[in-house]
Amino acid sequence: MVIQMCSLPIPTKIRLAIKNRESHKTIIRVNDVNIGSDEIAVMAGPCSVESMDQMILAAHAVKEAGAQILRGGAYKPRTNPYSFQGLGKKGLELLALARDETGLPIVTEVMSPEDVELVEAYADILQIGSRNMQNFPLLKKVGRANKPVLLKRGMSATFNEWLGCAEYILNEGNPDVILCERGIRTFEQMTRNTLDISAAPIIHQISHLPVIIDPSHGTGTRSLVEPMAKAAIAAGADGIMIEVHPHPDEALCDGAQSLSPDEFQSLMKGIEPIIIAVNRRL
Ligand code: PEP
Ligand code: MN
Repeated sequence: MVIQMCSLPIPTKIRLAIKNRESHKTIIRVNDVNIGSDEIAVMAGPCSVESMDQMILAAHAVKEAGAQILRGGAYKPRTNPYSFQGLGKKGLELLALARDETGLPIVTEVMSPEDVELVEAYADILQIGSRNMQNFPLLKKVGRANKPVLLKRGMSATFNEWLGCAEYILNEGNPDVILCERGIRTFEQMTRNTLDISAAPIIHQISHLPVIIDPSHGTGTRSLVEPMAKAAIAAGADGIMIEVHPHPDEALCDGAQSLSPDEFQSLMKGIEPIIIAVNRRL
């Protein structure tokens, strides 16, 4: 059964993630940034936490360029077991060190329900990765956490399935869910994923939750990140997530889509006119 709202069909079984009036918006405050307000949230940092030097350099670089939130994975969901799996607790400690150094809050992924307490003790935002979007025990667990949750879209998930997962978190009592579009699987081979920028207007028409866009995983290619970040903001995204590494060619994970500090600085300059054009601010 569906009801009609803004011409998009909305499943009636999703209650908490759905807007109840046009102006209904959830704004999530993380340190100095209000995600879902007229501010554009920029989350940036390496794919994975690799070492103290790498993390501290990355944190200073993204802060200097104007990012408000630092990203970095300590627990990594890798396609095969022989790839770098992340530093685990040590990685969380390095993230906390980078936060102490720069004042930037951190977003980092939690992969299993047993790790939620530990990751929550370090993170300012708990990330649920694309591959875990429908890990329902994990969603229920972060739904009982006291930190905002960044819920990435599954790579083959429909909007309704994605919102159903947000509903799991909200239904456990955690009101602070940020949706993150990161590209979906299509027949296209030129890009790692097909970045579905329609996520911004679609989610905003249906839901009160903020939506950010990740053009790094969404394209897989460095040269496409800035144009797609601009497109994301133009389409109404509440923020962007960008992978930045002090030496992208040496990255242990996702180097091909990671920007150098200089490239990230130029992205931040490049998005300025778009932010102004859509009446938003950094
Ligand atoms: C990530 O952000 O590092 C990540 C693994 O992303 P995704 O879950 O979107 O693949
Ligand atoms: Mn990555």
